[in-house]
Amino acid sequence: MSAFLQARFLASAAKPEDFPPETGPEVAFAGRSNVGKSSAINALAGRKRLAFFSKTPGRTQTINFFDLGDRARLADLPGYGYAAAPRDLRAGWDALIGGYLTGRRSLAAVVVLMDARRPLTANDRHFLQWLRPAGVRRLVLLSKSDKLSRAGGVKTLVSTRAALDQAAMSADVMLFSSKTAEGVEEARSLLEAWLQNKKPPEKGN
Ligand code: GDP
Repeated sequence: MSAFLQARFLASAAKPEDFPPETGPEVAFAGRSNVGKSSAINALAGRKRLAFFSKTPGRTQTINFFDLGDRARLADLPGYGYAAAPRDLRAGWDALIGGYLTGRRSLAAVVVLMDARRPLTANDRHFLQWLRPAGVRRLVLLSKSDKLSRAGGVKTLVSTRAALDQAAMSADVMLFSSKTAEGVEEARSLLEAWLQNKKPPEKGN
């Protein structure tokens, strides 16, 4: 069975000292608040309410860890880019996420959710900078793709890939919708291949 379908909540951490021990390859999920990250994790895990923590602005920001079977892990990073986030909240976010991304040796891949209607916002680009030195595999999911026409989706896919290439930020990019399930199986199988440290499947488009 897919490791994602065996996802189980493990721990919440508000500071790096609280991160669970590194036992196996980990995939982290990031994206600005409201981009559809929790829905995407739930869709990949085939569950309704697996990821639903830390959603309120101002609430303690935590990284939520899940076991994926008995080997791999998933880390749900707090959403970024609240327009009105107070400075200390943002500083806390940077320390938590910076500590995670720079110090987590088991980190195998990072999934960045971006709204398919407006990908690569300033906050998205800022976040991607964190990943530059980390040497992890990257997957960009263009979320809520059901809000675009077929042609609009393809156009966004192409332009996002081009923009990432131009920024020398290699990443796989897929259209994704928790509502229609577009991209769910494709993302799941690519991530599982990465977690198993196998060669990823050939890109289909
Ligand atoms: P998060 O803050 O990034 O975890 O975002 P959520 O998963 O909570 O989703 C934020 C809002 O977007 C909710 O109202 C969801 O119902 C909606 N949403 C999430 N995924 C999709 C999607 O694939 N399609 C559409 N149309 N709406 C979505």
